[in-house]
Amino acid sequence: MLAVSFAEYGVAPTLGPWPDPECPADGVLIRVAATGVCRSDWHAWLGHDPVPLPHVPGHELAGSVAAVGADVSAWSVGDRVTVPFVCGCGRCEWCRRGDTHVCPDQTQPGFTGPGSFAELVAVSAAETNLVRLPDGLDPVVAASLGCRLATAYRALVTHGRLADGDWLAVHGCGGVGLSAVLIGIALGARVVAVDVSEAAAARARELGASAVVTGTDTAEAVRGLTGGGAHVSVDAVGSPSTAVASVRSLRRRGRHVQVGLLLGADASPPLPMDRVVAEELSVHGSHGMPAHQYPELLALVTDGRLDPALLVGRVIGLDGTGAALAAMSGPSRTVGMTVVRIDDAGSASQTLPAASRPSSLA
Ligand SMILES: [Zn+2]
Ligand SMILES: [Zn+2]
Repeated sequence: MLAVSFAEYGVAPTLGPWPDPECPADGVLIRVAATGVCRSDWHAWLGHDPVPLPHVPGHELAGSVAAVGADVSAWSVGDRVTVPFVCGCGRCEWCRRGDTHVCPDQTQPGFTGPGSFAELVAVSAAETNLVRLPDGLDPVVAASLGCRLATAYRALVTHGRLADGDWLAVHGCGGVGLSAVLIGIALGARVVAVDVSEAAAARARELGASAVVTGTDTAEAVRGLTGGGAHVSVDAVGSPSTAVASVRSLRRRGRHVQVGLLLGADASPPLPMDRVVAEELSVHGSHGMPAHQYPELLALVTDGRLDPALLVGRVIGLDGTGAALAAMSGPSRTVGMTVVRIDDAGSASQTLPAASRPSSLA
């Protein structure tokens, strides 16, 4: 098959032949129809998040089942699926309770093994990890579900307990941040979007955010706009300054949800724990979403309240994937997600225009 891989951290990823994956007995092979390019892939490429080398990145995939392992009875060749970026083992205490996204024996295609910047990807424990896609959902749109939309959904609903009419602050308007903006609006919240980039904040406003903040003391600005602070605030960036600003954006008894990864020297931000105690704030970490929770999110999409297509900024071919990953080292020139479409014939040489994009994203 063809895959985009890199042999060493930071060396340009290239498209070329790669051995077909073996189908696990308890898993499936998925023929990838679309896969998102995510900042987590960039972290893996630069070695911030160590991966086995050489490596095929890619973890936001949608496609169809191409082969089924001997122990799998619930899935068939041709089924249209996506998967969470964290796949549970299906056997441990956490998986049996439904908490597959924190499984200690988890696998993450694109991190613990070869991922979806490829024509085929192997997923183990299929009966724990596969998510059936509704008919008619474009794979380019569905590719965003496994990582960014699912992460934002669980952050807001499970941890934030976001309610109709609440104020939601979203720090960082990249893929997961804009996903949180859209989901917050779908759930009836009023959203304040925070980003240093005027273009990213403007996109959040276009998507329906009630207010945007681009200045320096962002927490103060959020508290002013929301009459005392947000009920729920999300750090979708993953930096000490945005994590602290998110906590400081909250009203009393508010919930901070950390979604952006805090890696290396940034791992332990100095959160104001005095305020956490005095104002009964709560601090949550959120890491993906188990497969069994996807129907709630898919219902928002199929009933028309949530349109993930609005998050797609650019559609490229597999041959443009390495460059798209490398470009994340510089300032962002694309608002919204970059998604790779791989056509049925496996051709990787075509760069497709994004369909029905707002002209501001062209
Ligand atoms: Zn991702
Ligand atoms: Zn497990």
